[in-house]
Amino acid sequence: MKIITLHVDYIKFKPIKKALKSVKDLSSDEKKEKTIKEALLVLTAVEKEDKTEFVSELIKNIKDIASQVKVKNIVLYPYAHLSSNLSEPDKAVEILKNAEKELKKEFSVFSAPFGYYKEFELKVKGHPLSELSREISAEKDNQKKLKEELSLKKEKDQDPKTILRSITKSTLDKSKLKSYDHRILGQEMDLFSFNDVSPGAPFLHPNGLIIYNELISFMRSLWKKFSYKEISTPFIYNNKLWKVSGHWDYYKENMFITTHEGKEAAIKPMNCPPAMLIYKIRPRSYKELPLRFAELGIVHRKELSGVLSGLFRVVKLTMDDAHIFCTEEQLESEIMNIFEMFKIVYEDVFKFPYSVELSTRPENLLGKKEEWDFAEKALESALKKSKVKYSIKKGEGAFYGPKIDIHIKDSLGRSWQLTTIQLDMQMPKRFELKYTDKNGKEKTPLVIHRAIFGTIERFLGILLEHTKGRLPTWLAPIQVRVLSFTDRNINHSQKIIDKILKEMPNLRIDSDFRSVPLDIKVKDAELMRIPYIVVIGDKEEKENMIAVRIKGDKKIKSLKLEEFIKNLNIEIETKAFKGF
Ligand SMILES: [Zn+2]
Repeated sequence: MKIITLHVDYIKFKPIKKALKSVKDLSSDEKKEKTIKEALLVLTAVEKEDKTEFVSELIKNIKDIASQVKVKNIVLYPYAHLSSNLSEPDKAVEILKNAEKELKKEFSVFSAPFGYYKEFELKVKGHPLSELSREISAEKDNQKKLKEELSLKKEKDQDPKTILRSITKSTLDKSKLKSYDHRILGQEMDLFSFNDVSPGAPFLHPNGLIIYNELISFMRSLWKKFSYKEISTPFIYNNKLWKVSGHWDYYKENMFITTHEGKEAAIKPMNCPPAMLIYKIRPRSYKELPLRFAELGIVHRKELSGVLSGLFRVVKLTMDDAHIFCTEEQLESEIMNIFEMFKIVYEDVFKFPYSVELSTRPENLLGKKEEWDFAEKALESALKKSKVKYSIKKGEGAFYGPKIDIHIKDSLGRSWQLTTIQLDMQMPKRFELKYTDKNGKEKTPLVIHRAIFGTIERFLGILLEHTKGRLPTWLAPIQVRVLSFTDRNINHSQKIIDKILKEMPNLRIDSDFRSVPLDIKVKDAELMRIPYIVVIGDKEEKENMIAVRIKGDKKIKSLKLEEFIKNLNIEIETKAFKGF
């Protein structure tokens, strides 16, 4: 059995029609749309090997998570997409019914109908435990081990050629995807692929890496502008570090555990603890604060491979992370600085509408009341001074500090939480971070965790769908392609390319001089969503003009080369969202 649990602000769902003939009809009440607030949503797929005895294991897992995130509402939601090895419907229904009965003893339980196509909308909270996945089986550990050993032995007996065939199979099933799905765009534009040998970790192709690197270099330019210092930290750490940070207690299930030199170790799921260690490397004075450590942090978090959906849920994430160490007096202006940076990215460059939420102290918190009073006031004042509209989410902050969540809305009306600004009053204490103040007294700094893109992979996926592949020109892997109308025009076309490159040496420009009909060349360039397709025929040669097809527009513009270069330069330099 596979489950994903999501801690949600709300989930809204409505049955649309039967997916399985055999299921019973719904009553008029069951057909209605339902909204459940403040709940733990449990997406469930019952699999062939599952038995009714597994229910207790399922309940144990749900209870465990529910108690950690403190919810009273459970939504059981059959979700077939989690597995390609589903059980017979009758058995699934029985298992889910039993689970519902058991859970009702402690929780308010809501069940979405089994065997129906349903539409649903939800809003997931942003804390580390809000999205977890589990694989459940009633097997005892030693049975599991035996099975694993057996399958290892089986693989051992296979020859490399057979194994190779099994790992080079393409895995993208397009039949259920929309044409603008980033997994389809990724294939058409030759950006990235996935392979079962490393589930949930994208393989970036040359074109995809260009976008990834452009986003990063944009971010680096902002780090420079806002006086961040970039750091880079290791991937693998002895578990001592995770015990100090607390991850070993509450996040271990989602960490990749390994051993190194005979000691238990783990791959970092977050970049904070190593950043704390760099701060701690020597005594710090108030004169060094605020100290802003930025890191292009590559982290790994365990997710079930069956539930990964392209770039939206990945095991390997690249965060544009930063940890800001500051004094209490600096807190407000630091938050304002982050907002200024946020606005450059989302308002000026990507033009996403957004909404802001300030989450305040939860019931179970660490720290003194005065600390929280101060922190909440500083964050709110920073939002006011930044002239940002915001709403307050009472009690939604983390136990270690209040936070600001920003949700953007994409062209498909979906809401995404990418940017987070999280004040942390506990981690500096756990790591015993200090600085000496003006009067020579030792004090503990505050730490702000913040990411603007969130993760580069997810941002890339959203941007691809938001623009349906028509990325702004500064990000397009190929920005201009020159097509020769006939073989007669190849010479002149090459001259045009040379002239453009002389003016814009960094431009990503290529050519298609094949002896095939022009419409085939245009079609190929369009599939790559190349913003500017330049066609050179006899007419263009004679009149010394170029014919340009701009961002998929069917109308062809006739331009002077100088004019084209001038406009293109401005568009790329200003990171314009639209073409000219
Ligand atoms: Zn952090």
